[in-house]
Amino acid sequence: MATEKMEFQTEVRDLLNLMIHSLYSNKEIFLRELVSNAADALDKRRFLSVSDSSLLPVGTQLRIDINVFSEAKRLVIEDNGIGMNREDLIQNLGTIARSGTKQFMKNLKDSDKSNVELIGQFGVGFYSAFMVARKIEVLTKKAGEEQGYLWSSEGTGEFEITEAPKENAGTKITLYLKDDEDVAEFAEEWTVKSVIRKYSEFVSYGIYFHPEAKKNDKGEMEIPEEERLNKDQALWRQSEKEITEEQYKEFYHVVSHDGSDPSAWNHSHAEGSLEFWSLLYLPSKAPYNIWNQEAQNGLKLYVKKVFIMDDCKELLPPWLRFVRGIVDSEDLPLNVSREILQSNKIITNIRKHVIKKVLETLKNMAEKEVDKYNAWWKELGIVLKEGFYMNWEHLDELKELLRFRSTKTEGDALVSLTEYIDRMPENQKEIYYLIGDNKDTIQGNPLLETFRAKGFEVLLLSDPIDEFMMGSLTEYKEKKFHDISRGDVEFEKTEEEKKAEEESKSAFKGLCESLQKTLDSDLKEVRISSRLQDSPCCLVTDEHAMSARMERMMEAMGRSNMEKTKRILEINPTHPICEMLKAKADAGESLGEWPKALYGQALLAEGSQLPDPAAYVKAITQLLSAVAK
Ligand code: ADP
Repeated sequence: MATEKMEFQTEVRDLLNLMIHSLYSNKEIFLRELVSNAADALDKRRFLSVSDSSLLPVGTQLRIDINVFSEAKRLVIEDNGIGMNREDLIQNLGTIARSGTKQFMKNLKDSDKSNVELIGQFGVGFYSAFMVARKIEVLTKKAGEEQGYLWSSEGTGEFEITEAPKENAGTKITLYLKDDEDVAEFAEEWTVKSVIRKYSEFVSYGIYFHPEAKKNDKGEMEIPEEERLNKDQALWRQSEKEITEEQYKEFYHVVSHDGSDPSAWNHSHAEGSLEFWSLLYLPSKAPYNIWNQEAQNGLKLYVKKVFIMDDCKELLPPWLRFVRGIVDSEDLPLNVSREILQSNKIITNIRKHVIKKVLETLKNMAEKEVDKYNAWWKELGIVLKEGFYMNWEHLDELKELLRFRSTKTEGDALVSLTEYIDRMPENQKEIYYLIGDNKDTIQGNPLLETFRAKGFEVLLLSDPIDEFMMGSLTEYKEKKFHDISRGDVEFEKTEEEKKAEEESKSAFKGLCESLQKTLDSDLKEVRISSRLQDSPCCLVTDEHAMSARMERMMEAMGRSNMEKTKRILEINPTHPICEMLKAKADAGESLGEWPKALYGQALLAEGSQLPDPAAYVKAITQLLSAVAK
């Protein structure tokens, strides 16, 4: 076969361009990526050989070998893993298949271009080697196939593939290092060894370093013995005491492909009727693909130290899908399949353990590291909220983990339900909350006025999911949750207040009826409000009717022909506008544009859309013109 020249896919070309010109100083991460690819390839070969033993001849030791040639500035990383054929090479080292990558490229372009720390997260780890190499050769043969191939590229627009003999299955990657000063060290024994040691804790295969041949005392060339760089125990099988914080963090970077440090982790070893190890991490940043159902992340499953699969969905409920790490079971069979996993008792038990440990770790962080937990909550709390309508078992634990902004929190502060209850005034009987679309404008909702005046804290929610979550949150420590935009609010009232209310109810009867008449097609009822202080009016929803926000969400989801629930307009009897209108109504005068204007104001104040903005503007203009005259 003649040498085939091919062009990189455009995205790869852009990416390589960034890599080649990268000023990023932490260049050593390329080694982490290459070792991680080699380990994955070994995992794959071992895994496939469980069902097809010919793929791994008896006696083959799966391993990674590293050679450096400091004079020639060359670094070689070799594995005897699954290997690649021609199609694999084109597919894996010529294109970027992942959907997240385009977004990643965009982020890189928009922000600081040297920030390539994220590189591994987007499944483009191999290309990071072009930060240090002017040319890369990949000699590879796929297990079970006869023909080997040589892929080579200088990282510019194209790559070449040619048939090439290779004895054993696996992949040998040769990096011809650039002449740059900060790159030369990657052909030095000391640097390569220390970097690999740092990143190899997760690898359960031997990684061997082959020192360069040297002249001995007699002036003869001598090849020193190979040296094993990693322990023969995978990190998770070592005891916690033997592992440093740095090692835990490095391991996280490798399993998660996330460059930032995790917020917390939990490492455990269960013995008894079942034996397994788990190492679970809570990322500090929301993974970029957290909303992608197909995302291949989550927990890796190992059986007896053998890698079985990435993203074992059976081990984690969807509301904990941000968790990263590994589970290694002694009891499952090696040839376990996805189908078997779905109804497997062992998996069910491990899953219970995983959920328990994650919730404990979160609780621990929430209690002992408040700032860290709050920062975590802002990134990922929204996913945890899904737990409220997806499970019943852990509601009590989840309630303790909830954090809210409220009318009494400032800046970055958040409040927990326990704190809320602790600082509740004695005459407050329920937990008040308000859901809005926008976290910045919700504070200005007129519904909050009386609660503020009375010193009652209101929890402010603005995530799309909150509506669903609150649907399954009915009470906490025997206090009921109350949506303040719904139904009536029963404040404790003095005899005097009750009397005044009765009086204004009858005094404003005429105005309420008048408004109702004009706004009948939009409103169910017009009544006197006890929640307003400064605003003339507000809208509330009947106790059991669908909220305006939920209606909008249903519409956005394509339910366009729903019948709209009519809302209730509450007016403030102490507001000058309402007093003025009362006088008009009592005198039998027309209310003119006022009803339209008031209804529009009430909609805007709660953050809703106006059904007919032009009509509203016309009404307001007319009222303002009257003042101008
Ligand atoms: P990722 O490892 O995140 O998938 P990379 O860009 O590092 O992304 O690698 C792309 C693909 O190339 C891998 O998914 C794998 O299929 C293949 N690959 C890379 N290195 C090796 C290797 N040493 N042996 C076999 N396949 C490899």
